Amino acid sequence: MAYDNQNIFAKILRGEIPCDKVYEDDYALAFNDINPARPVHILVIPKGPYVSMDDFSAKGTTEELAGFLKALGHVAREAGVTDTGYRIIGNNGAHGHQEVPHLHLHILGGASAGPMVKRVEKL
Ligand code: 5GP
Repeated sequence: MAYDNQNIFAKILRGEIPCDKVYEDDYALAFNDINPARPVHILVIPKGPYVSMDDFSAKGTTEELAGFLKALGHVAREAGVTDTGYRIIGNNGAHGHQEVPHLHLHILGGASAGPMVKRVEKL
């Protein structure tokens, strides 16, 4: 899938749309989800134009990949969820139900994330 630079997170990165920023460095931006599913619900996105995790891992530099992962852990620690635990969710593509086509990982915490994804009847 080609990167669409008109997606909402690209606009947030360019400062065309505001966000409730919690962290930013050279590699990543983190901001509160507009429709939180848990008391802590932060989205962490790489600064580069990557659609999905597979796209990022194929095209991102080692520095970008490491920087993004470092930022993710930093944000979780700063959010205060590391003692009680948290869930990281990354939705990719149609079957992943990804809504925004710029790679993002959700950090959910502050309450139980609940069980894993429900099994479908027929695998
Ligand atoms: P996805 O299903 O793509 O993994 O999740 C997209 C997430 O982005 C959703 O949780 C949704 O609430 C969030 N979101 C969509 N538009 C905006 C926005 O303009 N600002 C913020 N902060 N979050 C957004």
